[in-house]
Amino acid sequence: MSIPILATTSQQFTYAIKQALGKGAIHSEIIYKTWMRQGSIPFNHSAFKNARQLLEKILEITDFSSLPLNRKVTEGHVHKLLVRTAQGYEIESVVIPMQAGGTLCVSSQIGCRMACRFCETGKMGLVSQLTPYDIVSQVFIAKNLLNCSIRNIVFMGMGEPFDNYDHVMQAVQILCDPQGFGFGERHITISTSGVISGIEKLMHEKRYRPNLAVSINSADEQLRKTLMPITRKYDLKQLHEAMANFNRYTGRQILVAYILIKDLNDSLEHADLLANYLQGLDIKINLIPYNSQTKTIYEPSRAEQINLFKTRLIQRGYQPLIRTTKGDKIMAACGQLGKKSALKTL
Ligand code: SF4
Repeated sequence: MSIPILATTSQQFTYAIKQALGKGAIHSEIIYKTWMRQGSIPFNHSAFKNARQLLEKILEITDFSSLPLNRKVTEGHVHKLLVRTAQGYEIESVVIPMQAGGTLCVSSQIGCRMACRFCETGKMGLVSQLTPYDIVSQVFIAKNLLNCSIRNIVFMGMGEPFDNYDHVMQAVQILCDPQGFGFGERHITISTSGVISGIEKLMHEKRYRPNLAVSINSADEQLRKTLMPITRKYDLKQLHEAMANFNRYTGRQILVAYILIKDLNDSLEHADLLANYLQGLDIKINLIPYNSQTKTIYEPSRAEQINLFKTRLIQRGYQPLIRTTKGDKIMAACGQLGKKSALKTL
């Protein structure tokens, strides 16, 4: 028997050790904390001074492995990590340096079934769901193997997190466990293309409830249907209701993401539509310049147009932020994860 530590909360780990050895609760807690926080075994901890045998037994029945890091590609300070899953696929996560500690963008699926037209991952279709172990491995590698300072985790990599809800939330339990990684729930953000069932479930989460981000990308129903086929299932009105309920029930603000694509959704009329659509919601808006990809009919909006769009939103009473694109040369920016060459069976 081998207990995969990265797939467990401290409570689950301790319980499994006690079940296997009939003792070791306190000792397994110490091992859990040190492994998750530093990636090391606490050989010199005073608790093990007279308990070497117990330590060895715990080590024997614990699987400390993470998924292997296949490659790391760096542009400036941005690192794109390509991690190999047990089935031989590569998944991608990105470390983005920030002033107050880095942000790690993690993947929740291999590919994605949502098929957003502007997204590299969407072109792949859904290949496979990631397990909690696969998700936590991405954090462990960035934080403990590569020693990156990680303050925030965003589920904005490959995949629609709410299409893999249970695994994502088990990973959140592990990442927020105060006896382990200890990330605050407010330092984790789950980004959805608008899966309303997921928004509702997240709203009712009792233990840890991360922040919610929603990709809008157009407040014109027809255009959004073209860009994001999910709108055929959940229309903009339903999405507005779900976001309003989330605001009301949780008292939390929602991050709205809007990717600006040249001559498609970046006119002042589109800014007005967005401003009208968001009325009554407690949100903050991130404007994201579209990133050019390998083969695409879309182009990034011009800088002047982005500023005009932003100004119009300010005139309408919002305070949008333009998110600077980092890592686009290594295909690590928003909507770029999942370049086809990354999907190799090894
Ligand atoms: S933008 Fe997100 S939800 Fe849409 S296809 Fe890409 S990964 Fe999936």
